[in-house]
Amino acid sequence: VSHVAPVLTVVGSDTLVPLVDGRRVTYANLDVAASAPALRTVADRVAEVLPLYASVHRGAGYLSQVSTALYEASRRTIGDFVGARPDDVTVVTRNTTDSTNLLAGCVPAAADGRPGRVLVLDAEHHANLLPWQRTTRATVVEAQPTTTATLALLADALRTAADADDPFALLTVTGASNVTGESLPLDAVVALAHDHGARVLVDGAQLVPHRRFSLAGSGVDYVAFSGHKTYAPYGAGALVGRRDWLDAGTPYLAGGGAVRNVALDATTWQTAPARHEAGSPNVLGAVALASACDALAAVDPAALHAHEDALRRRLVDGLSAVPGVRVVQVWEDAVDPVGVVTFSVDDHDPGLVAAYLAAEHGIGVRDGRFCAHPLLRRLGYSAGAVRASVGVGTSGEEVERLLTALEQFVTDGPAVRYAVVDGCWAV
Ligand code: PMP
Repeated sequence: VSHVAPVLTVVGSDTLVPLVDGRRVTYANLDVAASAPALRTVADRVAEVLPLYASVHRGAGYLSQVSTALYEASRRTIGDFVGARPDDVTVVTRNTTDSTNLLAGCVPAAADGRPGRVLVLDAEHHANLLPWQRTTRATVVEAQPTTTATLALLADALRTAADADDPFALLTVTGASNVTGESLPLDAVVALAHDHGARVLVDGAQLVPHRRFSLAGSGVDYVAFSGHKTYAPYGAGALVGRRDWLDAGTPYLAGGGAVRNVALDATTWQTAPARHEAGSPNVLGAVALASACDALAAVDPAALHAHEDALRRRLVDGLSAVPGVRVVQVWEDAVDPVGVVTFSVDDHDPGLVAAYLAAEHGIGVRDGRFCAHPLLRRLGYSAGAVRASVGVGTSGEEVERLLTALEQFVTDGPAVRYAVVDGCWAV
């Protein structure tokens, strides 16, 4: 912690977040998986650059040149942060959802002209499921109780498809589940996909902010992630990976900046990344995300890991000790999950638990089905669950407060009355 804290202070840990009844609202620090509070250095950088922005790629004026330079430098920083290979492309997107949708339009068609095949698990966030179902030929495989059994099932599917001369073009997996923080071992995923001619996309939304990830080091072909989960504000994310699909794929947005020449009968498109970035680019978003990448890259990964993993372990142990609380798990043998812990409280609606934590303890957590409906349904949590998640700005004291509040809830129940108003629990 001592290595992490001085470098990475999140905004809101002092003056920006209001007090409720004299208590600090821990909203952001136990709901980091939804959106992480911005780092102080990111907020400072945005304030510094805000007066400078002007048209990117479109102006000869001095500030236009500054903005273009800032935008392109940010792109390089973002790519470097995820270990891009020299030939990889970094497309600045809005978020992970934007990135997966973009790549779905770039998966090459099969030999017979049908859409390319994509293999995906039912444990994925909707952002890493629905684009494949809508745009490509998706096969969804049920995650098994162990990572080993799940990998075996994926290997079977890849082999059968290749033997039938209709191979998968892409295997897409989460780098860390937004429900449990767990993942499949990426080296095994890459080896088996590449053995069968498939590429690998990692949904890095929950991984990249919490672990050092490298495309070059892991052999993963593409990674998608979001700025607002990486301690930068909303509005920018990235898709980084192999150039050929991105150069040949359907331009993600049609409009200015993505074209070389427009004629009424024949338009020629740019190659990537410009091909997919039509419209005026989000230079502030890119600068903010790059600033967060710089800050995270400067931190000792072991210190970051130790800080977050200690909090995660305490959460899991503490929650498991509260009577009636069950912690959700996809895989019995998952190694090194990130700090995302989802739980249910027997006989209590998750929405009520979350409303109680917010109203009576100033603690913000996420409840619901976490944009992972198929997984929650299959694991028996159709009514949803509650999720707490930690990051660089979360303290041990905040975790203790959550645990104490839950113990109190289970023993004494809420102090005030709650009712469902417009579908949400409220006081
Ligand atoms: N994948 C995972 C694993 C996520 O946690 C999320 C956000 N909850 C997404 C994808 C989608 O991210 P965004 O909403 O930023 O597009």
